[in-house]
Amino acid sequence: MPMPLSADHDWQRRVIERAKELDHEHRRRPRSPWQSAVGLALSLRFLRTAARQLLTAPRRPEPRQVEHPGPGQIAVTFVGHATVMLTTPLARVLTDPYLGDFFLGLRRAEAACLHPNDAADVNLILISHAHRDRLDLASLRRLAGRAAVLVPPRCSSLVDGLGFGRVVELAPGQSFEFADVEVTAVAARHEGGRGLFDWAWRGACGYIVRSAGANVYFAGGTAYFSGFEEIGRRLHPDVALLPVAGYEPPALRENNMSPLDAVQAFTDLGAKLLVPVGYGSFPLGYEPLDQPLAWLRQICAERGILGQLAVLGHGETCLVRGGESTRA
Ligand SMILES: [Zn+2]
Repeated sequence: MPMPLSADHDWQRRVIERAKELDHEHRRRPRSPWQSAVGLALSLRFLRTAARQLLTAPRRPEPRQVEHPGPGQIAVTFVGHATVMLTTPLARVLTDPYLGDFFLGLRRAEAACLHPNDAADVNLILISHAHRDRLDLASLRRLAGRAAVLVPPRCSSLVDGLGFGRVVELAPGQSFEFADVEVTAVAARHEGGRGLFDWAWRGACGYIVRSAGANVYFAGGTAYFSGFEEIGRRLHPDVALLPVAGYEPPALRENNMSPLDAVQAFTDLGAKLLVPVGYGSFPLGYEPLDQPLAWLRQICAERGILGQLAVLGHGETCLVRGGESTRA
């Protein structure tokens, strides 16, 4: 007689099955003969995109100052790439600040959009991992001052000495309270090294920012993994800030999510609002810069969840109360 599966085994099997289905769906995606011929075609397209961008100045939207919202609300502002500003009645939180126009020789398609007065008002910075597009020393120097910085394990040495009031390493499961927010670090599936010759085994985290307005989950950099379901069950995020780019060639999905992965993660989390991040600034994968959003919109339309998708332009803000959002 077969042994009954424990709930734990059952859960693991479900997640493995879902990951396999996602792999299968990615392989089934229609590709032009040009794309499927060889990886070389994709890398040539990447080089063409990067070269074209070098000659094109980034679009530079005019930043608008974001006021602290009233009680029970949180303002979510997309600054660009993985930089998001969360403004509560008493706190101003910034994720993975990247404010420059270049990254490893790649020029930005759209500049970071953050009002200088808001930048000066930031009092808590969340760093998801030590990759150079997420932990950028030049951007951090611009923000240095009284703000506190939360970093994953074994990353504080990179930030110490930049002039911040406080640098705190937060391992998954640990929390930090500041003004009217409580930040809890959560696991991520991402290789977090600073570079090829960084042997420090640096950590990588996501963060849940709890406030009276909503629980906002910033996933950082991550591949699809079983943790989303657990994060949803334990920490109940209302808003999920999920990365959706850097998925071509497919090997990049070991560390990153495609829009299809992100929608599955959103479902696992049980969140109410999906705000995509990490796209549109730098060509970090071989996919065209505009592909992630187009694909994401298509998937959300097919699944009837377009109403839960909030695509924010650079510098655009939505006000959130629980799972309800309105454009500011
Ligand atoms: Zn990364």
